[in-house]
Amino acid sequence: MLTVENVTKEYPTPAEPLVVLRGVSLALSPGESLAIVGPSGSGKSTLLAILGALDRPTSGSVRLGNTDPFALDDRGLAEFRRDRVGFVFQDHHLLPQLSVLENVLVPLLADGKPSSDELDRARMLLDRVGLAERTTHRPAELSGGERQRVAIARALVRSPALVLADEPTGNLDSTTADAIGKLLVELPQEHQSILVVVTHSQSLAATMQQQMRIDDGKLLS
Ligand code: ADP
Ligand code: MG
Repeated sequence: MLTVENVTKEYPTPAEPLVVLRGVSLALSPGESLAIVGPSGSGKSTLLAILGALDRPTSGSVRLGNTDPFALDDRGLAEFRRDRVGFVFQDHHLLPQLSVLENVLVPLLADGKPSSDELDRARMLLDRVGLAERTTHRPAELSGGERQRVAIARALVRSPALVLADEPTGNLDSTTADAIGKLLVELPQEHQSILVVVTHSQSLAATMQQQMRIDDGKLLS
């Protein structure tokens, strides 16, 4: 369960603080998916960063299961982000010098050498995203849609409880975007992950169970 209560976010400026989030609350159960839409600059990425514990709220609380990530020490926080959250960004953020398979294994390397089960899972995910024949390619040798498929496999390799995607199809043509959107909805659900997707695409938003809009710092149904 992801529980967000009355989260606010302000950024300090030389004049008065810039208030981006003015009291955001939401609750999502395992297997549920939510699309967040809203104009550019409305705080969508800010909210996603707070959900994934990449950034702290000014006030309010976030809990994933029984964990309040902002109550953890730095090491606990780093483990929380790595173990419990999978991120997919608009720009794939793959490491150019690594192969497709190695990129998917990156989140596992903090624990040392991946186990054979983990390797199997990485290969299974690459198979599911349609890249079984591309495991030794480098990111530069892939299309934009293929790179985003790798990013999805990487986000899911630790079976995170929470999957966050920030405009994951923003750089893709509509046919490719539809295929990526389908994978994004299907794969997290198989592990009962919670999925939150920020998107400008009405068709991607419509594939999520719930749709909400950020407007003036508030999240509206
Ligand atoms: P969106 O993802 O909806 O386009 P963002 O969450 O990226 O919007 O940004 C919301 C607002 O907060 C914008 O006005 C942006 O300029 C501001 N902002 C984002 N990050 C910072 C930061 N680190 N410091 C100051 N202002 C920021
Ligand atoms: Mg953004």
